[in-house]
Amino acid sequence: MLHSRKKPHAIKDNKELLDPIYGSVDFGRVLPRYKIPLKEIPAATAYHVVHDELMLDGNSRQNLATFCTTWVEPEVQQLMTECVDKNMIDKDEYPQTAEIECRCVHILADLWNSPEAADTIGCSTTGSSEAAMLGGLALKWNWRKKRIDQGKSADKPNLITGPVQICWHKFCRYWDVELREIPMEGNRFLMNAEEVLKRCDENTIGVVSTLGVTFTGQYEPVKEVAEALDGLQKKTGLDIPIHVDGASGGFLAPFLSPELEWDFRLKRVKSINASGHKFGLAPLGVGWVVWRDKEDLPEELIFNVNYLGGNMPTFALNFSRPGGEVIAQYYNFLRLGKEGYYKIQKSCQDVAVYLSEEIAKMGPFEIIYNGKDGIPALCWKLKESKAQNFTLFDIADRLRTHGWLVPAYTMPANRQDLAVQRILVRRGFSRDLASLLMDDMRRCLEHFSKHPSAKSLTEKEAGGFKHS
Ligand SMILES: *Cc1c(COP(=O)(O)O)cnc(C)c1O
Repeated sequence: MLHSRKKPHAIKDNKELLDPIYGSVDFGRVLPRYKIPLKEIPAATAYHVVHDELMLDGNSRQNLATFCTTWVEPEVQQLMTECVDKNMIDKDEYPQTAEIECRCVHILADLWNSPEAADTIGCSTTGSSEAAMLGGLALKWNWRKKRIDQGKSADKPNLITGPVQICWHKFCRYWDVELREIPMEGNRFLMNAEEVLKRCDENTIGVVSTLGVTFTGQYEPVKEVAEALDGLQKKTGLDIPIHVDGASGGFLAPFLSPELEWDFRLKRVKSINASGHKFGLAPLGVGWVVWRDKEDLPEELIFNVNYLGGNMPTFALNFSRPGGEVIAQYYNFLRLGKEGYYKIQKSCQDVAVYLSEEIAKMGPFEIIYNGKDGIPALCWKLKESKAQNFTLFDIADRLRTHGWLVPAYTMPANRQDLAVQRILVRRGFSRDLASLLMDDMRRCLEHFSKHPSAKSLTEKEAGGFKHS
């Protein structure tokens, strides 16, 4: 029998490849969304379908809610592409990537004034959340060892924090630790020494101070808390370590406020985490945790991968993980140096201060944090003195129609009555863009002066005025 004269499959596909983009049959139908399709489609078609769908996510550069990197140099994009096959866990297969991770740890230890930067222990993570889990676990293990050595019970660990990022709530729930979170009171939005001391006891595994509190952007007073804990130790013998959540501040304070003592200069600070993908300026997917001393990271938590002979511990929640972000972090260190980081962070800070001044001038707002002594961010509330034709939530909604994401939210305990609005200034949010945002914000106010929002009217009718 003769061979079938039907065209082989490949030729049919080839013809489809000639179809113009947006002209082929696949663009004339809705593709399956919740089931894997039976048949394949050309790569270019699939690419454009997915690419176009992502358009609906909006423009990340206008997202002033996020702390995370939304602009990188083309060289970083290139390195990320080159590193698409690098697995961070495979230190045997990719020893140079492992070496670069190791260098970053030492660079950070040095930047954070570790007395023995060349001999510190630490690792990269997927972000500050994982880094916080690892830092918290080390605190818990160390505390437990001490308790068992003393013949005491070790079943009621607690952790003291100020108003913290959700990752510490997660840490406490996942690892069965009581969270003693210091609530906000009145105009105090941070922890202070007095509030920390009130909560310390023999079951306290540590105190977490945040350098760049999520809700306002302010730095918690690490030194004041450390000194208070020194005093507590003298009086009672309780030796309570500090972990600093420097998710943002860890990459800012060394450049913008080098004189501020928050890091390993304070003996009581045993570990620090930071997000490489926030002010570390690396692309999404990298965080860091560094311990002051090898002894501060309990050996039982380390899974030693000895095929490299180095001292990089395998201490992570995940196994396989991409390596590109770590490489990009190293590139940034090399490319920018202290000089470059300073210039970038300072220009962000200047924009934050400029925005605070502009927003204060508009009239209805009172600045809570102006970007000067913490992270390049600002946050404000409505003045309490008079009723307005809008709420901060209305402003947020209205700005969204211009593409800007400027979140309004209520504070956590005990200031849930207080609504604020916040802007994070990141690399790429230039003074020019900032002035365009201010134009849009003034247009919002004009709009509400002519068309009061429904919510503000209900509040007026109710006779009271609540900022919510
Ligand atoms: C962002 C942030 C975190 C969480 O960090 P990820 O890198 O997003 O996991 C933890 N703590 C603080 C203070 C943060 O700002």
